[in-house]
Amino acid sequence: MPASPRSSSRRRSVLILGSEAVPFAKTGGLADVLGALPSALARLGWDVTLAVPRYRGVDAGEPAGVETLRVGGFTCNVSFRVAPIGNGARALLVGCPELFDREGLYGIGNHDYPDNARRFAVLTRAALEFARAGRPGGPAPSRLDVVHAHDWQAGLAPVYLKTLYSGDPILGRSASVFTIHNLAYQGLFEPDWLPRLDLPWSLFAIDRMEFWGRISLLKGGINDAGAITTVSPRYAQEIQTPELGSGFDGILRARRGDLVGILNGIDVREWDPARDRALPAPYDIDHLEAKRASKAAVLARFGLPAEGSAAERPLIGMITRMVDQKGLDLVAALGAELPRLDAAFVVLGTGEARYQQFWRSLAEAHPDRIGAFIGFDEALAHLIEAGADMFLMPSRFEPCGLNQMYSLRYGTVPIVRAVGGLADTVVESGRWRNGFVFHDHTPAALLAALQRAVAQFADRRRWRALQRAGMVRDHSWDRSAREYVRIYERVMRGRAR
Ligand code: ADP
Repeated sequence: MPASPRSSSRRRSVLILGSEAVPFAKTGGLADVLGALPSALARLGWDVTLAVPRYRGVDAGEPAGVETLRVGGFTCNVSFRVAPIGNGARALLVGCPELFDREGLYGIGNHDYPDNARRFAVLTRAALEFARAGRPGGPAPSRLDVVHAHDWQAGLAPVYLKTLYSGDPILGRSASVFTIHNLAYQGLFEPDWLPRLDLPWSLFAIDRMEFWGRISLLKGGINDAGAITTVSPRYAQEIQTPELGSGFDGILRARRGDLVGILNGIDVREWDPARDRALPAPYDIDHLEAKRASKAAVLARFGLPAEGSAAERPLIGMITRMVDQKGLDLVAALGAELPRLDAAFVVLGTGEARYQQFWRSLAEAHPDRIGAFIGFDEALAHLIEAGADMFLMPSRFEPCGLNQMYSLRYGTVPIVRAVGGLADTVVESGRWRNGFVFHDHTPAALLAALQRAVAQFADRRRWRALQRAGMVRDHSWDRSAREYVRIYERVMRGRAR
């Protein structure tokens, strides 16, 4: 007879907070993580609630109550909706039209909404209040084990747990974890926001939330969480250095004992060459020849020659935001060197005008070697991942990076700069060799790596070994979720003490 719920040990619970999650809203990698982690944790037996804003156009879920919330003199009527998101995990969509029914997620163009501090404080407070009140139809929870906050938008969650809710019978016992996805976004606001967020002026101190005369919600999260994680082990090290610490290196060094890097997973169902419907023919590790059909399709799509020697040349793909972070400056500095390599390039991306123009001009000047598509196209991204022989990511910094993991899974050998998650996933030497890696942020180092890759491509046997080494690796969310659970257990033990 199966054990009754009463006799089994209590299910542990986590409230995950963040500003965007697939399938509700996405502007970047954070949405992918929050779209996948909750159900992976639920699969491990956790009771998981993911709280995100209900932005314009989101009408998923069932109504789950309303609440009048007051945050620093601002009153709003919050409506909750709950939607299933896999394996029993639920999304809590926090509605407040005045704050979230807007054109953009964070602002318009380069202009952030001036009340972003309030918007995300309301998200945080509403989610915490929902969690302590219990779910409609269910018993009031006796505890919420972990609050897991992501990026500056959720940075107030650990702060509120330590201040407003420190004596609360439920939330006062919750442990917290804060995850940094990109340290470049710090949630900076004028200090007079403190009372408007229901926070005391004592937090305007160097060892709390003050950051160069303002308050930083990111800093609040880092200082007050029981543990801090970031999205790759290497990035966890890098952000403790002045070069990549964005001014937060000292704060992070002070908490290094509580700082852990956990590599993101990828959606292994969405990104699977054996079932990817964007490809003309499926393939897997034992049928790599079928990858050629995708290469032919990419060449045709970009109008590149596919006959005779042209078909034998390696095809190098790039799918990227065209910004300095992604190393576009290095690529642009190589300029006319690129078509001189015995290779062809296809590029998909949008971003800064100068880089878009660079690729457009290069493609016009070398239509037999360079193909560029300026735009955002999910299906084409899949096709390029499959059809390219190599994938280029020369990033200046890269907290985790997804495309190199898609590439490895698709037998498309990555060429990367040794930073952040790229350094943790791609290696050029040793038994697990699966790609090409350069270190210096210089055009010469990038060119040398490209040349090494192109030369190696001629040796088909060794090339196959590189492809296979990438394809056998486990990039699933299950592995990452297990590591998060270890951190949850650690902060829970710390809290119990
Ligand atoms: P970041 O989040 O810093 O932009 P990542 O490598 O972590 O970088 O994730 C980028 C994601 O966005 C990948 O899934 C990538 O395929 C996708 N992407 C970026 N630009 C485009 C584009 N122009 N068209 C389609 N997908 C794109």
